[in-house]
Amino acid sequence: MPSASRAERLQPDGHASRHVDAVCAGERGDAMRALRARKNPVRAPFAAMLAVGLAACASVAPAPSTQVPTSARPVATLPDEAPQGALVVGRAAPGSRVLLAGRPLRVGPDGTFVFGVARDAVEPLSVVIEPADGAPQRIDVAVRPREWPEERVDGVPPQTVEPPPEIAARIREEQARVAAARERDDDRLDFLQPFVWPVEGRISGRFGHRRVYNGVPGAPHSGMDIAAAEGTPVRAPAAGIVTFADPGLYLTGGTVVLDHGFGVSSNFLHLSRIDVRVGQRVEQGQTLGAVGATGRATGPHLHWGMNWFEVRIDPLLVLERGAR
Ligand SMILES: [Zn+2]
Repeated sequence: MPSASRAERLQPDGHASRHVDAVCAGERGDAMRALRARKNPVRAPFAAMLAVGLAACASVAPAPSTQVPTSARPVATLPDEAPQGALVVGRAAPGSRVLLAGRPLRVGPDGTFVFGVARDAVEPLSVVIEPADGAPQRIDVAVRPREWPEERVDGVPPQTVEPPPEIAARIREEQARVAAARERDDDRLDFLQPFVWPVEGRISGRFGHRRVYNGVPGAPHSGMDIAAAEGTPVRAPAAGIVTFADPGLYLTGGTVVLDHGFGVSSNFLHLSRIDVRVGQRVEQGQTLGAVGATGRATGPHLHWGMNWFEVRIDPLLVLERGAR
């Protein structure tokens, strides 16, 4: 868990022994921007902004509450508000239809539905419940803003700036394959399981924090980095089905996507080894592979990302959500 020791600068020497500082140099837009980074490394004190981040993260998990309609019985259970990056689980009367901003959501036999709150969401999320026998009702879930401190990542390999066109094309193709895996919408409730840490370790990079690579601003960090030694087993934080497994993506290296149902998925990046295959069912705690530094990483660590379909969510909030 977080500690004061995390108030260190992110150094370029994570390759050697300082794996605790290892972070991803990003994926998708992050990395593409990192690839373009060509200016002098710039470093800045990190402690102050980290303290802000810790404070922000200490107050995340919202208490669930019941929205009582103006008349008759409640049609759904939802939190009044949810922080940016949260995974929100609601329950409607069985048989209800549920729409998020007009988008139909999968509803389980017991009325369970789920959606993600984007990092940059601001406006209240409009959820419309259409009970099988009753009038539709709209419930607004307020979005609680969070602080997004800056993390500086230096030591991004300078030879990777400005990738040649064939590499850029490869990156786009690989990202499209991963994105396709995240579109899956299985009727499984694995995401209701209380999540556990896939590896034990210090958080070396947090979801949503603004990233500066070699002094050049990049896209926000898309997941959570956990520092761990090369070869440490990576375990499934919750049960699911493996929907993507590739040992050698250009930016993210050994990459696994685990689908938890209803569009909720986890991705595990920079793996040194993959022990599962696409289509395989894994249970919580089962080994998926091992920590590595493959792809664009400054040292061994696990990058754990989570999505609700295309919406990136914060794994730490899912861990803290616990059993519901
Ligand atoms: Zn990362």
